[in-house]
Amino acid sequence: MKQHSHLNWIELSRSALKKNVDSLAKLAGNAQLALSVKSNAYGHGLTEIVGMLSTMERPEYVTVHSVDEAELVRAGGWTKKLMMIGPLAEHQYEAVIELDIEPVIVDEITLDQLGRLGDRLGRTMSVHLKLETGTNRQGLTDEELPAIASIFKKYDSLQYPEGASTHFANIEDTTNHEYAEYQLKEFTRLCGILAELEIKPRLLHTASSAATILFDNTHFDLVRPGIAMYGHWPSKETYLSYRLEGGENNLFEPVLSWRCRITQVKNLAPDCFVGYGCTYRTTAQSRLAVLPIGYYDGYDRSLSNIAYVLIDGKRAPVRGRICMNLMMVEVTDIPEAQLHDPVTLIGRDQSEVIGVEQLATWAGTINYEILARLGASARRLVTH
Ligand SMILES: *Cc1c(COP(=O)(O)O)cnc(C)c1O
Repeated sequence: MKQHSHLNWIELSRSALKKNVDSLAKLAGNAQLALSVKSNAYGHGLTEIVGMLSTMERPEYVTVHSVDEAELVRAGGWTKKLMMIGPLAEHQYEAVIELDIEPVIVDEITLDQLGRLGDRLGRTMSVHLKLETGTNRQGLTDEELPAIASIFKKYDSLQYPEGASTHFANIEDTTNHEYAEYQLKEFTRLCGILAELEIKPRLLHTASSAATILFDNTHFDLVRPGIAMYGHWPSKETYLSYRLEGGENNLFEPVLSWRCRITQVKNLAPDCFVGYGCTYRTTAQSRLAVLPIGYYDGYDRSLSNIAYVLIDGKRAPVRGRICMNLMMVEVTDIPEAQLHDPVTLIGRDQSEVIGVEQLATWAGTINYEILARLGASARRLVTH
């Protein structure tokens, strides 16, 4: 924390990441691990996270959303398998071959065009099928499967699907998992239809973090967790469900801490307004610290006048509105706070912690969104 002079940085704990990957590997059992590094590795920094994962025995796969992310993953030295769950533009089909991407297919047209390209170039394509089981976002319905099967028979480059998958709509938000059970039955039914059409996917997969943690019968051949790798529970409900089944407390540890430095300290008289909209007014002689962080950096504007940061292990309240690049906190009761002192926005400082989940509650959102919106402006530093 004191070794460098950055004003805005994110620390990534290698040991926490290793611990979380080990926990997920244990939960996965014999299933392969496909860890999600989409959305800049949930805001952590894709290059840094992939760099660390490359040195580990597991996972077998990383999963991205876009071809742009796939490019960064390969540039970061990842040589193992790479699944892509997001859409493909037509001009990106060749990149699927060049970057050795396994796309998840949700429509006939894309599959047909990929098959044609594969045949023309004499290359086999590894693709996964997404099956519609009730999330109604992406996914092939039972009516579409015969056409899909005939595309597999039409092209030599498409021998069989590398995988068949689905995604649950309602595991994280509830402790009642009836809908997930229904989707699991639908998945089995659709796989049965594929079998009747003589289409045999090699790997079946359905489980994100919550399903990986809670339900062994969703694991099949591969699991696709994301948020748990970064040391965060998908939700309180997932944590509760897990603990009610007697699960241990110590599965995951947050990988990320977000810090900055005080860039100015100033004294204010009573009755001074602070920031845009004059939403805060001092009631007494006050001391304010200006921080080089704003909503551009991923510190949500809804945290105005609500959140706290940590300085010297103590809570400093946010005063006034979060600006685009700056914010103000009160340090009247932290007299030792000085220019260039470190500030913790997310993470631990001595015995105090501001968790991602706490920020999410203050901001009226979920931990996923707080993480995914962390800006590229913060330097990423890998720590032990
Ligand atoms: C993002 C995503 C995951 C990972 O979800 P987590 O809740 O972060 O574990 C898995 N599968 C699909 C299809 C996803 O989009």
